[in-house]
Amino acid sequence: YFRQNRLPHLWCPGCGNGIAMKAIVQAIAKRPELNQDNTVIVSGIGCSSRASGYMDFDTLHTAHGRAIPFATGIKLARPDLNVVVITGDGDCTAIGGNHFIHGCRRNVDLTVVLFNNNIYGMTGGQASPMTPTGRKATTAPYGSVDRPFDACALAEAAGATYVARSTAFHVQHLTDMIAKAFDNHGFSFVEALVQCPTAYGRKNKLGSPADMLKWMRDNAVMKAAWDKLDPATTAPEKFPIGLLYEATAMDYDTAYDQVIERAGGAHA
Ligand code: SF4
Repeated sequence: YFRQNRLPHLWCPGCGNGIAMKAIVQAIAKRPELNQDNTVIVSGIGCSSRASGYMDFDTLHTAHGRAIPFATGIKLARPDLNVVVITGDGDCTAIGGNHFIHGCRRNVDLTVVLFNNNIYGMTGGQASPMTPTGRKATTAPYGSVDRPFDACALAEAAGATYVARSTAFHVQHLTDMIAKAFDNHGFSFVEALVQCPTAYGRKNKLGSPADMLKWMRDNAVMKAAWDKLDPATTAPEKFPIGLLYEATAMDYDTAYDQVIERAGGAHA
């Protein structure tokens, strides 16, 4: 499922993007009904969005923040396809934030995997809407003042019907979360925390890529255990992973079909 005989990838040594990309490929391999002929990968712009160029599928590397509308168009034209969006925290929650919430609201049958490295890596380390408060970036040399988005809470509030989180440390778990997202007929959102040792780690003195992965290991709490914690005593850096939210609602393509049928037309 990876392109052969191409130029080598441009990710920095120790970057977590390759781990998340491989988890997507392994999740596709876990579903016998999915293959290279019926899966399309769509990405926006940024370090994470380079993944579409490295995967041996029909892929579309689109404009900054615009992967979800491109993917929506593909899904409406070809409802039979499994459409996967790869996006980053800047791409998805800043310039693409509007598309993100409206994709959730419409419950478009897409699987959106957000590679969250907490920063704009490719353009030199500017703070993104998901940079934690107090962490440094080129645009926040004394630490970010802003409160970050919780993208999973945002997806749930906006209407997504499958919301999960995992990390580059929990590879098998991340793969399972993505594979389960494929089973949902609606907007599925998976946040994958990935280490960015170059733009984020170096600026914040977070150590080696292995140190950053250990941080994920030590601070991630499985959802069932998280629900039993007392928020007043929970360490501020701890975060829940696993399936965070699930709901049943008609997906956009089915709703669209019904409207077309009522109007006397025929959808693809
Ligand atoms: Fe990965 Fe960060 Fe380098 Fe981008 S800047 S390729 S996210 S390590």
